[in-house]
Amino acid sequence: MKWIRVMLIVTSLIIGIGSSHVVHAEEKDDGEARMALYKKTEALTDIPWEYIAAIDQYERQVHDNPKEGRVTAIETDPLFWTGSAGEMPSALFPDGWGEDGNGDKSIDIENDEDVLWSLGNYIKSFGTTKEDIKIALWNYYKRDLTVQTIMNNAKVFEEFGTVSLTKRSFPLPLNTNYSYRSTWGDARGFGGRRIHEGTDIFANYGVPVKSTTYGVIEMKGWNRYGGWRIGIRDIYNIYHYYAHLQSFSEDLEVGDVVKPGDVVGGVGATGYGPPGTSGKFPPHLHYGMYQDNGKNEWSFDPYPYLKRWERMEQSN
Ligand SMILES: [Zn+2]
Repeated sequence: MKWIRVMLIVTSLIIGIGSSHVVHAEEKDDGEARMALYKKTEALTDIPWEYIAAIDQYERQVHDNPKEGRVTAIETDPLFWTGSAGEMPSALFPDGWGEDGNGDKSIDIENDEDVLWSLGNYIKSFGTTKEDIKIALWNYYKRDLTVQTIMNNAKVFEEFGTVSLTKRSFPLPLNTNYSYRSTWGDARGFGGRRIHEGTDIFANYGVPVKSTTYGVIEMKGWNRYGGWRIGIRDIYNIYHYYAHLQSFSEDLEVGDVVKPGDVVGGVGATGYGPPGTSGKFPPHLHYGMYQDNGKNEWSFDPYPYLKRWERMEQSN
């Protein structure tokens, strides 16, 4: 396995993977080892594998991938693991949930099987329906965006039946006329004091706008500055923001799962006014990317990723 990792690192250096603060948008594919653990946990705890996978997927982004020697990145709180032991009041974890999942007679917080078995049993104590799992997650993480992200991940994994989802797409068809340059961080022309949090891709009215990743539609509707816009949360805790659309694809609803290449709408020039306002600037797609680290969310430059996805499609 080690040489594969080394090769991936070398390849990344050669093709010059972009900014260093977001390394998760693409990563090594150890899907089979992960799936085996998730499926085993499902068999032992009745929690569907996609939820176990979704929790791990979320934690992989928060903890910079699994520690050496581990397959999952899930790091449980010691309080959850051993219980409050009279020190801190913890109604949910009075005795702790840490258990020996792999039968080696030790309860190891750094052992994947022990962690998954313990977490699975904790969730099962709430029940095994989608709603039960959501409540268990809320009590565990106490953060709405985290719970939402994990539920989204589970939806995506269930839909495609795998965690190996590496395909990406450029947001516009390559055979249309479009142009873009690096404009992230520029002062905005008008409409607010914030810096420009995205890349503008200029194109004609109605050119199809495609999802760049696997994810779930998290937001759809009108915003004074963004016009008709859509937001997609992917499985890397990244929120993709598509603004100034002329139209949305029919039947597209918040909560829908999308994959790279799915058309979500058409290029337009909407925004900077009440709903329906259009034509105050040339038609373009404003494309933004936001990373969530489990505590807060920030904008980063999509330009290197757009360039990379464009090259990936060109070479296909
Ligand atoms: Zn813009």
